[in-house]
Amino acid sequence: MKIKLIKIGKTPVDFEVKSDEITFKGYLEYDSGKLILLKANLSGFTLCECSRCGEEFNLKIDEKVKFFISDGVFDSDVSMDLDVVESFDSMADLDELISSEIELIKSDYHICDSCKVEW
Ligand SMILES: [Zn+2]
Repeated sequence: MKIKLIKIGKTPVDFEVKSDEITFKGYLEYDSGKLILLKANLSGFTLCECSRCGEEFNLKIDEKVKFFISDGVFDSDVSMDLDVVESFDSMADLDELISSEIELIKSDYHICDSCKVEW
């Protein structure tokens, strides 16, 4: 699912996309300059490798996500502490965003239930 950034104004635009067993649900809202605010909730399950024993297990995900999408190159002179994703086709590619968010979560340290019990 792709949303044209130009269509996003001060009225939030709701979206909901799914990737396997994960739902990415939230809204996009125009912020300022070239920035669009994205606020969403990521919930569901994903197959993840245990950082301790290496076994794959189902990781429960329930994360709040908030970042900005910049329409074009983001001017880094602006000294703000923001999470910004740049878009070069003036689109919010939600399928791509959900997969990078999932990859980010997977790259964290996670241990499976049986390893938790041993601890
Ligand atoms: Zn384990």
